[in-house]
Amino acid sequence: MKPPIPTLPADLLQALGLSRFVAFDVETTGLDPNVERVIELAAVRFVNGSEEDKFTSLIACPFSLPPFITNLTGIRDSMLKGQPREDVVFKNFLDFMGGDTLVGHNVSFDLSFLKAALRRSGMTRKLAGNRAVDTVLLARVLLPTIPSRSLSSLGSYFNLYTKEKHRAEPDARQTGRILLHLLSHFNRIDITAADLMRRLADGLPHPSAWIFSAWAEYLIKTSSVEGRLRPYQLPYLTDNVIGRIPAAASIEAARVQADEEAAYLEIDEEEVAVFFREKGPLSKELSSFESRPQQVQMATAVAAALNEGGLLAVEAGTGVGKSLAYLVPAIHWAKANGDLGERVIVSTNTRNLQEQLFFKDLPALVEALPLKFSAVLLKGRNNYLCRRRWVNLTSDQPLRLSNNERQALLSLVLWAEQTRTGDIAEVSAFGGEGSGALWMRIASDAGSCRGKRCGERHRCFHTRIRTAAGRAHVVVVNHALLMS
Ligand code: SF4
Repeated sequence: MKPPIPTLPADLLQALGLSRFVAFDVETTGLDPNVERVIELAAVRFVNGSEEDKFTSLIACPFSLPPFITNLTGIRDSMLKGQPREDVVFKNFLDFMGGDTLVGHNVSFDLSFLKAALRRSGMTRKLAGNRAVDTVLLARVLLPTIPSRSLSSLGSYFNLYTKEKHRAEPDARQTGRILLHLLSHFNRIDITAADLMRRLADGLPHPSAWIFSAWAEYLIKTSSVEGRLRPYQLPYLTDNVIGRIPAAASIEAARVQADEEAAYLEIDEEEVAVFFREKGPLSKELSSFESRPQQVQMATAVAAALNEGGLLAVEAGTGVGKSLAYLVPAIHWAKANGDLGERVIVSTNTRNLQEQLFFKDLPALVEALPLKFSAVLLKGRNNYLCRRRWVNLTSDQPLRLSNNERQALLSLVLWAEQTRTGDIAEVSAFGGEGSGALWMRIASDAGSCRGKRCGERHRCFHTRIRTAAGRAHVVVVNHALLMS
């Protein structure tokens, strides 16, 4: 079955100069274009969104292939014997591509090998007239939150499965199809975001930077359709609040009363143990659940410690199910004493465990437990975007940012519009040289926060989560935050 390719508006392809494009890929002997060689070059031409023509050739190599390359590509020295020289192949390729736009996955890499080969061959014909599009850059902008933007990951994301990998022709074809999928989101982006991307990309020394102004111009020209299309939603956005957070007034009233009476309600240790027994609620909800006596023992010990106060240290081996053994009694205790304004803080050593508790274990307990509870994932303040600093930085005319900073910010534009958490951990695409220092210019920060005088306070990510953490039954933090 042919993989699904989206149908794109003809005027979009025309506006971007992509009615015809050539997706290409090279297999090389290494990473340095001045030392290593191209051993396979392939290109697939797409016209009005459909594959029309292809070019593919192995290329003779003046030295033996590194074993790593043979393992990766399946191309062996014997396969290159008798193949045409690079000057012949590249001349034929130039004839094939004509004036069409070139598309590559990390196109700068492919272009660097193309240019080096043309230089070596003494070809006067230049690539200057051909525009280039980079599917990696576009994926960083449109899919900044997916875990990986490698060719195979994007292929899986768009359901474009291919048997062959790391060979030039299937990779070139896959690149062209991925571009069509990415383009299918272009007319669902709002003009404000597209305009900011245009300003960030303006003057960037990236072969694909031009596409952002063409994109913004297209949206401005077709603004009459705005509102008819479903706006583009980034995938993999999360929330850092589970359940309904109690209202402030009821919590405050409860705390006043608790100060006066200071009596905690105990939880039933046997009731906690029942959850972990065979045929208990957890066994019904968690398919992989099996009752373990050590887990029951730990859960009842935690319940007793919560009832009695004091300290409890538990050492338990891998596979005991420690997380659930402390989360279940903690939720019970927080629920029982929530009316007294009490909550449980769960602190982990690593952010990974913090996220595992919040995104895996607690959602499983939402399903398994009959109790309705709320939980919050709380991180250090500078993990959250400061909306005021973001607006200030991106509304400067002209933008006072280096090229690296502009490119890094491109992956934040749609996220900053849509995120519910403002937690930078959501954006796997944000990174690169100088991104740490750049983030500190837009992260929430006590020193620069305007507090109640901030015009963005009602939408502030840090204020929202701190407020929720003050009222939730369970707050998941890490030790660094707990000790700060
Ligand atoms: S309240 Fe402070 S942290 Fe929040 S958006 Fe305003 S300045 Fe930034």
